[in-house]
Amino acid sequence: MTVGIIGAGIAGLTAAYDLVKQGVRPVLIEPGSIGGMLRSIQQDGFNLEAGPNVLVERPHVMELMGELGLKGEVRYPSVQPYGQFVWCDGRAQKVPSGPRELIKSSLFPWSIKISLPFKLFIPGLLKPRAEDVSVLEFFTPLIGEQVTRNMLDPVLKGIYGGDVEKLSARSIFSGLWAAAEKGLSLVGYIRRKPKGGKPNIFVVNGGIQRIPNALWSSLQDKVDLVAAKAERLIEKDCGGYDIHCSNGQIVPVDSVVVTNAGGSLSSLIQGLDTSLSARIGAQEYASLTVVHLAVSKSEKLLPDAFGILFPRGMPDNLLGVMFNSLIFPHVAPPDQQVLTVMVGGAQAGDMRPDEAKLREQIPLLLKRYLGVSEARFMRATHWSHAIPQLKVGHHALVAELDRVEAEHPGVVFVGIDRGGVGVSDRVRLSREGVERLRGRSHG
Ligand SMILES: Cc1cc2nc3c(=O)[nH]c(=O)nc-3n(C[C@H](O)[C@H](O)[C@H](O)COP(=O)(O)OP(=O)(O)OC[C@H]3O[C@@H](n4cnc5c(N)ncnc54)[C@H](O)[C@@H]3O)c2cc1C
Repeated sequence: MTVGIIGAGIAGLTAAYDLVKQGVRPVLIEPGSIGGMLRSIQQDGFNLEAGPNVLVERPHVMELMGELGLKGEVRYPSVQPYGQFVWCDGRAQKVPSGPRELIKSSLFPWSIKISLPFKLFIPGLLKPRAEDVSVLEFFTPLIGEQVTRNMLDPVLKGIYGGDVEKLSARSIFSGLWAAAEKGLSLVGYIRRKPKGGKPNIFVVNGGIQRIPNALWSSLQDKVDLVAAKAERLIEKDCGGYDIHCSNGQIVPVDSVVVTNAGGSLSSLIQGLDTSLSARIGAQEYASLTVVHLAVSKSEKLLPDAFGILFPRGMPDNLLGVMFNSLIFPHVAPPDQQVLTVMVGGAQAGDMRPDEAKLREQIPLLLKRYLGVSEARFMRATHWSHAIPQLKVGHHALVAELDRVEAEHPGVVFVGIDRGGVGVSDRVRLSREGVERLRGRSHG
């Protein structure tokens, strides 16, 4: 069986790794650098992450880390529990991590504090009235509109760059959504959830990019690399597919694992399915700019915090600040700290901010909102089309991907448009995609 893999980000490399384990020699098609968005930079004694900053400890990614011999390189937060803050009513406020903090928190009005313990037991409180609703609509019966906007909105901006009025509750809170559809109370949902509490976060000694690097070292002589863009995927009358590449090469395959997304996926599949191509083409993305700054160790940041997230409408589209070295001290030299500032988001469009302006503005914003007296700009990385907006109705796009997979045996879609925007989810979806492929070729 010949298998093509489109894209060599973490999803494509994981797929290649799993296929090689099955005895397949895949053709990996990638026009850019191996590893996609996973990009670690060593600069002036700092470990900087230009893409993902932390990973969530989930079974598929931990299994992969083990297989790659990287488990010993995992670093967990040195502060436990660490806090997360949001900017609300003109100050930084801690997101409560339990009932005691919630009682003291000014993020929650007294009416919610009093009613919440009872609401947790009400069956059907969150039962959705439509096939999908916004995160705002979904959570309002439980915590009210104000708390959803003040607390949940900045948190989701930090992950998706989008806002609670548009993001899909069904796609983002799929477990809770399924329980709500059954009419369960929140307590009923929590009781049925697998035990184990909140998953930990981690980074990798020497940078997260060590994961794609390790994958690539194990794959180099076991895959065929085509350093070009896959432009058209054409189904052949006699079965199988031709992948037309930007360097003129045509790669004939029996199956293809598609890991790219957005406009690039839309044009790739135009000849395969016009309806899916149009839907993918209409998918909106948030762009993000990641700015790294060094500050002295003597600067006081928020206590034991991983960072702070901001609501909509902040100057320069400020989304959040991560205090990486506060919970992962090894990423900065002993006398310094590193801050990662995120700007952009869905409302900002795809404008690449001017670097000279960022150099000037970001230290001023850090002074204004966090009291940081001096911050040294190190670098900025812009990601256009960084995170897909899983808007209300996103499940219909997933259903379309499933339909096209069923109609075109041998094609699996594991790109970020499917959902699951974190690296751990990307690894899981990719491994599941390769399993689907195997199931179909044996079925
Ligand atoms: C700034 C930022 C911060 C983030 N923070 C976190 C975080 O803290 N934690 C977390 O878990 N996740 C985070 N993420 C998300 C995470 O980085 C992504 O979900 C993940 O890296 C996506 O992996 P992928 O392989 O699906 O896609 P990509 O990494 O985008 O890889 C896709 C690859 O396909 C290639 N490609 C595209 N089109 C074609 C084509 N036509 N032909 C051939 N190849 C093609 C591209 O060149 C690319 O290499 C962050 C993302 C960004 C941008």
